[in-house]
Amino acid sequence: MGRIVCKFGGSSLAGVEEFRRVKEIVEKDPQRTIVVVSAPGKSPEEPFKVTDMLLMCAQLASAGFRFDEIFEQIAERFKMLCKELDLSLDINTLLQEVYDHIVSGENSASCASRGEYLCAKVMSDYLGWPFVDAADLFVFSSEGEINEEESLRRINKRLTTMERAVVPGFCGALSDGRLTTFHRGGSDITGSFLAVGTKADLYENWTDVPGLLMADPKIVENPMPMRHMTYPELRELSYMGAKVLQEDAVFPLARAGIPLQIRSTLLPDNPGTLIAENGVQSGIVTGIAVKKDFRVFTLEKTKMREDRGFLRKLLSVFESNKVTVEGTPSGIDSVSVIVSEEQISGKLDKILEEIRMYCHPQRLTTQPGLALVVVVGRGMIRTKGVAAKLFTSLAQADINIRMISQGSSELSILVGVENEDANRAVAALYQTFKGE
Ligand code: ASP
Repeated sequence: MGRIVCKFGGSSLAGVEEFRRVKEIVEKDPQRTIVVVSAPGKSPEEPFKVTDMLLMCAQLASAGFRFDEIFEQIAERFKMLCKELDLSLDINTLLQEVYDHIVSGENSASCASRGEYLCAKVMSDYLGWPFVDAADLFVFSSEGEINEEESLRRINKRLTTMERAVVPGFCGALSDGRLTTFHRGGSDITGSFLAVGTKADLYENWTDVPGLLMADPKIVENPMPMRHMTYPELRELSYMGAKVLQEDAVFPLARAGIPLQIRSTLLPDNPGTLIAENGVQSGIVTGIAVKKDFRVFTLEKTKMREDRGFLRKLLSVFESNKVTVEGTPSGIDSVSVIVSEEQISGKLDKILEEIRMYCHPQRLTTQPGLALVVVVGRGMIRTKGVAAKLFTSLAQADINIRMISQGSSELSILVGVENEDANRAVAALYQTFKGE
């Protein structure tokens, strides 16, 4: 029998109804043997995330203020879960431990991690499965970096011999034993490591959306879901802003070749999106994403190509100013550098001056307001006429293209358009490629 690691996000654990739904899902497939939980999140009935409330408690405690009122709300939520789910768990003692932990002046990450801890205790009792503390599995360096090798070793040693386990997400321990956490939303990473460490057949990430959509629903009405995709496709789309889970959770899975399925607890029969090394090809284009607010620097210089080291000198200017370069489309005697506007803030004049000083361009211009639209699909490699369709679609929508770039893996085509045209560009491209 295969093994499925399933992680449930905070909104899927917000209250009693949500817990019931999770139990039903878990028990429906006997392969689901490791459950990872976030802390209870928001729902229409619950306006606050437990993690946020714990952080507030820690902040108040560290400033010497009382935090009892907020803590009482957290306590009520867990007590209510135990009562309604008819559990025998001694939640009062656990809550007291967490309260004392905060009073003792522990750092805020350590306090925040207790939401997942309590939630996993409740889930473990509810499912009747053993609880395994993430602090015994996840090891962080004193700089707060996860020690992947050691963590995977511990996970493998501890969990592969167990039939079932419930593990709190988000949390781990420093080498001196103090508790710490991944960054916010980090339970996704916990689940991913558990899948890799136990060599699972599948990692299911259960959330409140049924997978990824072909385009942003804020731009396109009711976009089609993406049923299958590959890890490189997911990387391209999430880099451009189409996010549904933490990127750091994806790399370990991709490396280990473990498929990832994103599903919704609200629609448990919906298959969601399956991301695998060699996913089934759904269409020519898998998805379309957009990122706005880039700035383009354009340099013109005769015989630029013969000037050895020209690009290095140009890129060094950005590097020394700590600016990440998004791309460098080039012509024969011209080159452009694309960077996000945010990174340039407060540095524009200095960068222009340094480019003039080190690169001696004949002409140097810079223009803000560029949006990058990416069309991603591994089917594009084998299909003629995709680019023609793409450009025709934009021309028909009366959109001017300021820049074009095709990724060398031919997995994506990137076009630069004016910020104001970006949403229309996505909508036009979606209409052209949906269902193809
Ligand atoms: N509970 C944590 C957060 O709100 C971690 C997580 O849910 O993944 O960020």
